[in-house]
Amino acid sequence: MIHAGPGQTRTGPVLICRGSVSRDCPHGPVPIDAGGCLVSPGLVDIHVHGALGHDLTEPDQAAWRRALEAHLHAGTTTVLATLASTGPAEMAAALATATGLIAGQQAPTLAGVHLEGPCLAPEQRGAHDSAHLRSASEVLRELTPLPEALRMVTLAPELPGADALISYLAGQGVRVSAGHSSATPEHLARARRLGLSHLAHLWSGQSALTRPALHRLPGLLEASLASTELTAEVIADGHHLPAALLTIALRCLGPDRLCLVSDATAGTGLAPGSAFRTGASTGRVHNGYAATDDHTSLCGSVTPLAVTVARMRELTGASVDDVVTMATATPARAVGLYPRKGSLLPGADGDVVLFGPDLSVRAVVLGGRPVTGVLPDGDR
Ligand SMILES: [Zn+2]
Ligand SMILES: [Zn+2]
Repeated sequence: MIHAGPGQTRTGPVLICRGSVSRDCPHGPVPIDAGGCLVSPGLVDIHVHGALGHDLTEPDQAAWRRALEAHLHAGTTTVLATLASTGPAEMAAALATATGLIAGQQAPTLAGVHLEGPCLAPEQRGAHDSAHLRSASEVLRELTPLPEALRMVTLAPELPGADALISYLAGQGVRVSAGHSSATPEHLARARRLGLSHLAHLWSGQSALTRPALHRLPGLLEASLASTELTAEVIADGHHLPAALLTIALRCLGPDRLCLVSDATAGTGLAPGSAFRTGASTGRVHNGYAATDDHTSLCGSVTPLAVTVARMRELTGASVDDVVTMATATPARAVGLYPRKGSLLPGADGDVVLFGPDLSVRAVVLGGRPVTGVLPDGDR
């Protein structure tokens, strides 16, 4: 049982019984004083590529566990392992790695796979290797039958054959996201009707306003900001987007549709100067960010989700409740995991982060068990 302190998003005690948030517990829970910390649901990151030199396209369970553990210690208790574009065999092997980890209960924070690519627009590919981009029909073949661990796919909805791929995925409960794309508002509206529900990292890999003649033509960016139902991601690491753009995104979508994501790469936790793999590309760690080797494009981030929570508040002045919502309930809803994840409602998994007044992570609890911080091992 964790006693929340004053001024937190959660008021009153949070009771965790046998791993889940509960109204009562007959097993004699051990009280833990949160000592004035803010009690938040565990953080939900739906866009994570790796950490500590391990890219999640590596089909190696031990590498996945180490990367997921690094994010867990930083406060992320639910992860969609995000795979950048690679070849068909590598993609299948990484999906099988996720399935194995989930089936063997070897990775308690792993909630599934987010394929970022390989059906992306070449002109918006960013750090994705062009040699590994593939057509929608190829990807549809590769994902039939549907891999068990697959929960989200980011694709460019304007590409030929994308309609069939979107319908297939959405029809089986996989969340479909528009990203690395030059979709027009018409493409986006059509994809939405077919089941697309989400937008990858706003301003990154998105076409924007053009004026080929007299009239201005909105790009995917403007269509995203004008959308009324879609959820969307921002990378608030202090490098991808300046304060004004984060503020625009928050004003347009609000905390119930805007998700904070880390887009954290294998470079997370490595020293500046280190090289790392992301999908089939190579990135290099700089001071607080990662870039492609030629330093022309950012290459994901090196920032865990919890740090972006604090940065979003600093940069936009959003309330603590709103920034916490954007890293918990909103992403959990976007991928169909709410309220089991992203909430502290009765029945939710007992995943908790204690934030200090400066929004630094003071302790992390997973399924009722403290994994980091100064909390004694409490309720079983
Ligand atoms: Zn991306
Ligand atoms: Zn990414």
